Amino acid sequence: MKVEFSYLKRQFSEPAEYFRDLRELVDSCEFTLGPFVDRFEKRIANYVGVRHAIGVNTGTDALILCLQSLGVGAGDEVITTPNTFIATVGAIVATGARPVFVDCNERMHIDPEKIASAVTDRTRVILPVHWTGAAADMSAILALAEDVGVDVVEDACPALGASISGRKCGSLGRVNAFSMHPLKLLNVWGDGGLVVTDDDELARHLRLYHNHGLADRDRVEIWGVNRRLQPVQAVVANRLMDRLEEDLGRRIQNARWMNQALSGLEDMVVTPASRSDGRDVVHLYVLRVQRRDKLRRFLEGKGVECKVHYPVPLHLQPAARELGYKVGDFPECERQAGEILTLPLHHLNTQGELEYMAECIIEFYNRA
Ligand SMILES: *Cc1c(COP(=O)(O)O)cnc(C)c1O
Repeated sequence: MKVEFSYLKRQFSEPAEYFRDLRELVDSCEFTLGPFVDRFEKRIANYVGVRHAIGVNTGTDALILCLQSLGVGAGDEVITTPNTFIATVGAIVATGARPVFVDCNERMHIDPEKIASAVTDRTRVILPVHWTGAAADMSAILALAEDVGVDVVEDACPALGASISGRKCGSLGRVNAFSMHPLKLLNVWGDGGLVVTDDDELARHLRLYHNHGLADRDRVEIWGVNRRLQPVQAVVANRLMDRLEEDLGRRIQNARWMNQALSGLEDMVVTPASRSDGRDVVHLYVLRVQRRDKLRRFLEGKGVECKVHYPVPLHLQPAARELGYKVGDFPECERQAGEILTLPLHHLNTQGELEYMAECIIEFYNRA
């Protein structure tokens, strides 16, 4: 059997209804902003539980816009974790600010207990990442941020639909980012992103700024940029919204099944812990395993395509050299980098695939 990491071919194997909507877009010739984007923004704002959603071109730019809208720039510091996708940190650097790393905890999120000692008088924002589609420890982070008087921006790029303490990810920080990259949970046909906020003033600024600062065709209120979400992507996104809850439900169900199937390997395999006070949407199904590289090769040999997100933490990447970090600075994150393994588990797995993956993993540990 072959279990590929990408499920995109399966997901879009019957694109007729998307094409129907695209036909409608072509007939309307509304190729910038317009009704498809408006409709999607309203639906997302409603879904996340915020007053404003602004469609933008990428998740990375969504993060940059969040930070810039708060005035973050040169001379400022933004606190985040080294175990995230490059874009979290790239976005901080793009504003001119300096990324300051804090180690992660067992759940692979920024460790709230270690944040306080990283705060300086230059800290402007704490930027937790809802890594793997599970919420970071937001109540502790929000309390600390309020204590020291800085803003929280959620990197919710991989966590659309996740929640904690009755609130959705993306509704907790002051202004927050989602991605709609093909490998994210609501995955359009190219790039797309969203900025979401409850703050009317920030929303008004961002809405202007991402569209040339135009209040209307003839009035430029502020200098802006062009970071608009493309209507083609909004068409796809609107269709995907119709099935989002069902897809997330399947992901969660498949993850639960796998957790159970691997529960006998207790000492060898740690499955993702789901939280009781919220909903993790399983963007990545990340195990922590003994003899990771051997297991990975074994699974590859069996046709199970796994990934490591990521083998080299960001503070040890060449790009981070100027930040002055070294091996040993973030021991938990560094340890996890050697243990983590992402299975090709998602909403479109067959039961046969799930069973096959579990059997292969059990076989590996039983035979050794
Ligand atoms: C995907 C992702 C981004 C960037 O999103 P793009 O849409 O690819 O630019 C940022 N942060 C995290 C944690 C992500 O997973």
